[in-house]
Amino acid sequence: MKSITTFSIQYAHRFYGFAGEARYLHGHTGTLTIEVEDTVEPGVNMVYPCNEIKRTAWTLLRNFDHALILREDDPLLPAVLSVYEKEGVRHGTSTNTNRGPAFETALAKAYPECRLVVTKETMTVEGMIKIVYDLLKDKLNIVRLTFTSGDNAASACYKSAEKTRQRCPRCGIELDKSGRCPKCGYCCCQ
Ligand SMILES: [Zn+2]
Ligand SMILES: [Zn+2]
Repeated sequence: MKSITTFSIQYAHRFYGFAGEARYLHGHTGTLTIEVEDTVEPGVNMVYPCNEIKRTAWTLLRNFDHALILREDDPLLPAVLSVYEKEGVRHGTSTNTNRGPAFETALAKAYPECRLVVTKETMTVEGMIKIVYDLLKDKLNIVRLTFTSGDNAASACYKSAEKTRQRCPRCGIELDKSGRCPKCGYCCCQ
């Protein structure tokens, strides 16, 4: 069975070098849907608590929210950084509180202090799905991701993990390597 959660991300981007109006800087509300598959954990009668899927994803993906997303070779990148530097906001402000941990993968690098994500490829809906899967594949048994942005959407399916993840029968989240629940302290050896 699957547990499914959806949330939105507001961002600005452009398709550098693209022959169309998306070459100009513009913004969107994007909607990400994450589908996680596993057995139903009998204690909680859930595959995975939807709010925990969201929490796990949001920890990293909040870096894309109210952020500027630019490709690494986009000349706007040094231009924006130079303006941020002159303005004194390049290294953060006390009011920039919606920060996830900085991350760097082969596809994207987050600069949470100035709400910027630099991508290797153009951040299309397809590009976003590749970035999200790469960030979350080890944390959740993702079998499908869908990302919509305005009238555009992309979706990708992934092979379900062969092994069931061991989850807490009290709160449904994944047990750590020692078989303990990081949330409520339940231990599988009890
Ligand atoms: Zn766009
Ligand atoms: Zn628990």
